[in-house]
Amino acid sequence: MEAILLNSGGKDALLSAILHRKQQTVLHSLFIDLGQPNVDRARKAAEKIASEHCADHFEMTIPGDWFVDSPKAPSGKSIPYQAITLAIMASLYARKINVDYIIIGLRGGFKDAFAHFSEALKCLPIPPKVPLYLLTIEGMSDDEVYTDLKDHFLLPELVSCNFKEPCGKCLKCVDRKKHGLPPN
Ligand SMILES: [Zn+2]
Repeated sequence: MEAILLNSGGKDALLSAILHRKQQTVLHSLFIDLGQPNVDRARKAAEKIASEHCADHFEMTIPGDWFVDSPKAPSGKSIPYQAITLAIMASLYARKINVDYIIIGLRGGFKDAFAHFSEALKCLPIPPKVPLYLLTIEGMSDDEVYTDLKDHFLLPELVSCNFKEPCGKCLKCVDRKKHGLPPN
């Protein structure tokens, strides 16, 4: 099987890559630059995941600034429906390279949303072939992901913190510390 790996440069992308490689999936890495504060660190980490696990690596950039003020987001700004934005861009890339599967390392209740989204895509005249979204680690907790990746050499270099420089204080940095990792 061939699939696109939506590669954010984070631990969920790495674990998804590892699990699919065990099933002999050929992975095409896709990093999407949203212009988020941590994008430079995320890009470097994504390249490392890709060079370890993927057949190739491609980068797409969202033009302009799609961020809006969002008091709930860690950095104070976010992209509305960010997961769906990523999914749409990945589906365009899937069409370009003729791949039917897109692996997304999202966790926490997205599976049904993506099933509905795939159905909705079929109504559009543009993609004649709707990709299948594989949320392989959807049901896992943070602790389970960290446990599965324990001692993996790339883990310290992967990006969790949403800020431009690792803050050391946000929930993600605190979680990393709990698992013996430096802020990043
Ligand atoms: Zn942080």
